[in-house]
Amino acid sequence: MDKTICLTFHNQGLRSYIEVDLCGECPRQDDKGCCGYYSPVFYPCDFAYLLKSKPELLEFIFNLPNLTVLDYSVTVNNSPEGNSYRCQFHSTESGCLLQQSLRESICRHFVCPGIDWEKEEILKPWKRFFDQLADYENKLNSVIGQKLTGKGLTLRNKADRNYFFQQLLILFEKETAELPEFFRQVPEAQKFYITRPLKFKTDWPL
Ligand code: SF4
Repeated sequence: MDKTICLTFHNQGLRSYIEVDLCGECPRQDDKGCCGYYSPVFYPCDFAYLLKSKPELLEFIFNLPNLTVLDYSVTVNNSPEGNSYRCQFHSTESGCLLQQSLRESICRHFVCPGIDWEKEEILKPWKRFFDQLADYENKLNSVIGQKLTGKGLTLRNKADRNYFFQQLLILFEKETAELPEFFRQVPEAQKFYITRPLKFKTDWPL
């Protein structure tokens, strides 16, 4: 059965994301889809955004159970459920409880291989954009993280977390004072329709 899928690409700088209308009726039919195999990891660029736009969510994250806290990242670990896992932000009724801009980058950029949008010629500018964005963000995260580590700051030290985040914001503002050119190479948002043969349950590739 062929299905026309609507993909909307959003250029929102470091909070860019891809919206897929198929997620609402995920062919996996397990109420979890790709989120059933992932544990979100938040890095310095996510912390900077949350500190500025929703600090209470950052506090909420650090009070969740089953975290892996490293020097400058936190993983919110999922738990086994049936044949897969349950992300702590995922609800059976309404999917991800976080609005797009509050999710970490894999959750904002991931589109299942069943859709395989990257092979479409017309979508190459967006492929370039998301590739460059991932590289840029990885570098930023590691530059900011290493500078924090160099100052003797680590997320593992609970008592110093407020100071850690103060310093992180200062570094983030400095490192992003000038944004790279590729941010201006795609529009703010663009919608595309592509048709794919659907398969169901575990036949649908993730
Ligand atoms: S944070 Fe949201 S998008 Fe990411 S894996 Fe969890 S439920 Fe899915």
